[in-house]
Amino acid sequence: MAEQGERIYWLDTCDAALPPVATGLPKRVDFAIVGAGYTGITTALYLARAGRSVAVFDAVALGHGASSRNGGMVGPGLHKLGISGLVAHYGEDQAVAILNEGLLALEHLQAMVAEEDLDGDLQIRGRFKGLRTAAHYEASARESDWLRTKIGLPSDMVPQSEQRSEIGSDFYRGGVVYHRDGGVHPRKLLVALATRAAEAGVEFHAPCAVTGLRRDGNDVTLNTALGSVVAGEVVMATNGYADRHSQPLNRRVVPIRTGAAAVGPLSPELMADLTPKARMHAESARVFMWYRPTPDGRSFIFGGRFGGQGTAVEKRRAAIRRSVLRVFPQLENAPFSHVWSGNVAYTPDHCPHLGREDGVWLAGGYCGSGVTRSIYFGTKLARRILGQPGSETAFDALPFKPVPFKPFSKWGAGMLMRWYAHQDAKELKNRD
Ligand SMILES: Cc1cc2nc3c(=O)[nH]c(=O)nc-3n(C[C@H](O)[C@H](O)[C@H](O)COP(=O)(O)OP(=O)(O)OC[C@H]3O[C@@H](n4cnc5c(N)ncnc54)[C@H](O)[C@@H]3O)c2cc1C
Repeated sequence: MAEQGERIYWLDTCDAALPPVATGLPKRVDFAIVGAGYTGITTALYLARAGRSVAVFDAVALGHGASSRNGGMVGPGLHKLGISGLVAHYGEDQAVAILNEGLLALEHLQAMVAEEDLDGDLQIRGRFKGLRTAAHYEASARESDWLRTKIGLPSDMVPQSEQRSEIGSDFYRGGVVYHRDGGVHPRKLLVALATRAAEAGVEFHAPCAVTGLRRDGNDVTLNTALGSVVAGEVVMATNGYADRHSQPLNRRVVPIRTGAAAVGPLSPELMADLTPKARMHAESARVFMWYRPTPDGRSFIFGGRFGGQGTAVEKRRAAIRRSVLRVFPQLENAPFSHVWSGNVAYTPDHCPHLGREDGVWLAGGYCGSGVTRSIYFGTKLARRILGQPGSETAFDALPFKPVPFKPFSKWGAGMLMRWYAHQDAKELKNRD
């Protein structure tokens, strides 16, 4: 599913080796998991630790999907609707519960990394969100006050006059620093998780696409590219890579292609100018760019909605470059060492979900903020399947509804993105 000519920075900078894949298919397993990303591997790890036989299948390779392609930014994952949208939609109590769940997810990730000794370069250095207009600055100040009061989320507003202490750019009208956010090396984290799962007895099968499921009494027969396997239960963990073979998840998510690029290596002086505190970065636009220094502090990763599926690498690179230079003109001659893309999964209610639909366990729909969430949801899903305590989430009361008019959803999402980009451009044009 990689576009031709793409190179993924994280794959080129990860020396750790994946555990080996199994040589033959098992006849029967307690659990078959479809998709070897953070969700599937985390669920597999805990099911295997509970003594169950578990096989994980990936159509292409372990970590082929978003889990090896993402920006590696972790945090409480504030909701896509924004605080006011969230409160208007769900009421204040539910909004607070959903936001608190994000903090619990982050704490879970940090605890798991420590307990499992996962080498994923986790660094908590905060996130600077650049605010594009004075109105965004004022709204953000109100929002961060609300977050501090309601869920105790620490943040600091940074006026435009002081923003050079956070970012080597004059593009923004100030910003806000969220101190709990941080970054990982996504591929290293994926390999570390897969290693723990293999040590717990999980069998990996790849490349081995699951092409169909058939319920036979209490069991499910999976058709795969290498033959059939009988499983007691199936977990669908294909997120943005869900297709017609990954029902019932596919019906419930809209995959959206996201682009990313690595710029570098850059001199230590330039890196210190771009991000004096080596923070994660985001911005207040509807169609926004995110960016961050690499864990070794030598390059920068930029990403966002730059070109849909099938966009040629050169075109994607040019689109990212235009956005990068608007914020950092000092990168005019910097080398773009890598350009790649990957799929995220959106849901109609902008919320991630986990549970059981049509007899299949599933988790996904992280809406582009899935590093922290997928590992948390993978853990919660395993607990729920096993009937263990601590499986509940603030999203449980929200039904995981099918996407209306699914065949047209990608087209609709594309139209919406273009409309949002138009609105963003208008706001920039009219700002002081
Ligand atoms: C460019 C990019 C940047 C991102 N940046 C961030 C970020 O900075 N912070 C953040 O929190 N989130 C980010 N995300 C989102 C995050 O990476 C994902 O939400 C998360 O990795 C999802 O993990 P997953 O295991 O659910 O799915 P994935 O890692 O996508 O894994 C799904 C797997 O399913 C497999 N599969 C599909 N169909 C089948 C089948 N029929 N049979 C067998 N296997 C199948 C695929 O091959 C794939 O490997 C980003 C995503 C992208 C693409």
